[in-house]
Amino acid sequence: MVNGPWTIGHILSIMNHEPQSLIVIGGGAAGFFCAVNAARLNPALKVTIVERSNKLLSKVKISGGGRCNVTHACFDIAEMSKRYPRGNNFEKKLFHHFFTKDTIEWFKERGVQLKAEADGRMFPVTDSSQTIIDCLLKEADKHGVQIKMQCDIKVVNAVDQGFELETSANQKLTADFVCIATGGFPKASMFDWLKSTGHSFAAPVPSLFTFNLPQHPVTKLMGISVTDAAVKITGSRLLQQGPVLITHWGLSGPAVLKLSAYAARELAEKNWQFDIVVNWLPGYNEQTLKEKFLQLRNENGSQLLYHKNSFGLPQRLWEFLLHQSGVVEGCRRADLQAKPQNELIRNLTAFPFSVKGKTTFKEEFVTAGGITLNEIDSATMMSKKIPHLFFAGEVIDVDGITGGYNFQNAWSTGWVAAKAIANISY
Ligand SMILES: Cc1cc2nc3c(=O)[nH]c(=O)nc-3n(C[C@H](O)[C@H](O)[C@H](O)COP(=O)(O)OP(=O)(O)OC[C@H]3O[C@@H](n4cnc5c(N)ncnc54)[C@H](O)[C@@H]3O)c2cc1C
Repeated sequence: MVNGPWTIGHILSIMNHEPQSLIVIGGGAAGFFCAVNAARLNPALKVTIVERSNKLLSKVKISGGGRCNVTHACFDIAEMSKRYPRGNNFEKKLFHHFFTKDTIEWFKERGVQLKAEADGRMFPVTDSSQTIIDCLLKEADKHGVQIKMQCDIKVVNAVDQGFELETSANQKLTADFVCIATGGFPKASMFDWLKSTGHSFAAPVPSLFTFNLPQHPVTKLMGISVTDAAVKITGSRLLQQGPVLITHWGLSGPAVLKLSAYAARELAEKNWQFDIVVNWLPGYNEQTLKEKFLQLRNENGSQLLYHKNSFGLPQRLWEFLLHQSGVVEGCRRADLQAKPQNELIRNLTAFPFSVKGKTTFKEEFVTAGGITLNEIDSATMMSKKIPHLFFAGEVIDVDGITGGYNFQNAWSTGWVAAKAIANISY
């Protein structure tokens, strides 16, 4: 069944009964998912993936520390879409077409079982990203998807009869449909080659990084993690709560990574030099902790502060905070003076740090920014400017926090584009 916008070329092709063609630019997760599904849903369509490097699915390979965090065990669309600092409304609409449960089912139907870890991240049961790569390559082979490597597309031109593409080696390719699945670009100039499509883009900035605290004494506690802390950017309402890990260069862990994602633009504007406060006991604020201290003093005034850490914090962190607050060793609760007590309460609920720079999170990182979402139809992933031009994956202005959300975006956009292309092609 053919429906949707037609071009003259489209009508001529139907009259000549030529098979139609799709070129997917980019051999990553989104490009493969679009290509294999389009070829499966319309076996008459000639599908080619063009990839500029000599590797396919290279990010899948290194993803999730080599295990590939394929998606997240979240089955509520509204909840899931909140995990995208940019593009949450777009994802909400997109997920009605292809969601996490569809990803799990899609891989299961092809013999790949996924398992959920306690924090919701989902991995193949083999704990190997190669399982995902093998599955996608097998699927491409099964449905006759052609693959051209070391084919760097420099120009995409919409012409009457579809598209003309030009490679860096001045080779010309033509197609009835094009899906741009080139991933995120870290620099704005890297979007220049897409200018001919008339699309605009949000400037790229890094997301998902850890905070550097060069030479800060806390870094001596490297390896210590606090299961629940709140990290807030001073002078803003940007705050995230969750596990925090102290590293030899600064602070990391889910709360820090989430904050880096939600605050990606603000932090880029500050050139990654900013102040934060950490509440190591997010169940308390300064006032309620003061009351707790009074209660503990009344209950057991003879207790040695350095010996008794009443809040479940790692002992070395507790001792560090006592030391930083000027509490002398051997001090009993009842002897704690007002000044060091106030200092300790402040350090427990709002420890100030000056962040100087960022470090890439090796397990997963993404670029915020990309093709402007209001120029793309979320029901089809087709450009609103150029019929039969599609987008999939990180090239669009969507990015998720860490936990399998970025791949889910690749699967959902790739599948929606494939379905739409299969519907309008013959
Ligand atoms: C180290 C690391 C670990 C990660 N781990 C996870 C994880 O566990 N879970 C998760 O959800 N996300 C993870 N991510 C993020 C995730 O990998 C990306 O969001 C996802 O790969 C995006 O897929 P994509 O297909 O859009 O782009 P990509 O995977 O970047 O693929 C795009 C492809 O297009 C090619 N290309 C670009 N321009 C052209 C051109 N002009 N012509 C031809 N080819 C071109 C590129 O060479 C590339 O192969 C990780 C990222 C990194 C860097």
